[in-house]
Amino acid sequence: TFRALLTEKADDGSVSSSVQQLDEGRLPEGNVTVDIDWAGLNYKDGLALTGKGGLVRAYPHVAGIDFAGRVRESSDDRYRPGDGVVLTGWRVGETHWGGYAQRARVLGDWLVPLTEGLSTRQTMVIGTAGLTAMLAINRLEALGMTPDGGELLVTGAAGGVGSIAVALAHRLGYSVTALSGRPQHAQMLRALGASTILDRTDFMAQPDKPLETARFAAAIDCVGGDILSKLLRQIAYGGSVAALGNAAGIGLNTNVLPFLLRGVNLLGIDSVMQPFESRVAAWTRLAGLFDFAAYEGNVEVIGLEQLHDKAMDILAGKVHGRVIVDPSR
Ligand code: NAP
Repeated sequence: TFRALLTEKADDGSVSSSVQQLDEGRLPEGNVTVDIDWAGLNYKDGLALTGKGGLVRAYPHVAGIDFAGRVRESSDDRYRPGDGVVLTGWRVGETHWGGYAQRARVLGDWLVPLTEGLSTRQTMVIGTAGLTAMLAINRLEALGMTPDGGELLVTGAAGGVGSIAVALAHRLGYSVTALSGRPQHAQMLRALGASTILDRTDFMAQPDKPLETARFAAAIDCVGGDILSKLLRQIAYGGSVAALGNAAGIGLNTNVLPFLLRGVNLLGIDSVMQPFESRVAAWTRLAGLFDFAAYEGNVEVIGLEQLHDKAMDILAGKVHGRVIVDPSR
């Protein structure tokens, strides 16, 4: 048997989770079985654990959209017992049982070999959040972003994706402005390398105009909604915005002037269906770039029992940095 956080839906539609010992036979179909060392907590996990957003269709369910561990059994030629692997995306934790368990069974196609030099713990400190931050930077650079081109704005900066984006961009030599709704995390954002901290309320309080003073060469937006709408009007000529999140809402009210008069690019970033080669490239770049020691103060370790409360916290914008989950705790 193995330990898992089983999420169930009651007849009245309410969703709840409990830690249980499950038989191996309960694992879903797949050709690789993994002993999980670490899973992550992401915004989407908050939705899945609380039954929001329609992410999970079939119950009982095991949530957890990312995990790292060792192969236990495999009928996929690419993986052997003992191999280190990481899984992010492919809707695992939504439509397939995910990482909040000591064991998972998945398709080999969804796995990426653990990057040389990274432990399973380090891999989950980065997790989907860090992978997505790296993909955003890679995409912005492909569109011409360079460290000497001007300020890079990161929104939702104290969160998982945001804080790692700040840290990575700083390491690459960018001058980073961090937008956050939580002044109490300004110090941590400076320590990760933000040169300017922008308060969310102050940013939104400036009067809206179809085009505003061009302050940023590029942006990584983790929140969407009115914040994305506003920052688009402050991007300098030829600059790009990587839109990857919706913590502030899925709406986007904008006008075409930033695109017509400044040639601004709005780029969508998706980590879930990202092809294997670009995942490997992003993990390799992350391994060379990410300063784990500098980030460690922003890592919180929890066990399966604490996931419910943390899920509520992440949806309420109360989690900072990364939360990683030890399924044996
Ligand atoms: P997270 O740790 O909760 O970070 C989100 C941050 O957004 C919060 O820390 C907060 O930062 C800010 N925020 C929260 N509620 C807000 C609100 N109502 N208005 C404005 N800002 C708000 O979550 P995460 O795991 O880093 O994910 C961030 C976003 O990216 C989520 O929407 C997630 O679904 C998305 N995401 C997308 C992909 C992809 O493939 N496209 C991958 C991973 C994540 P401050 O307190 O600093 O303002």
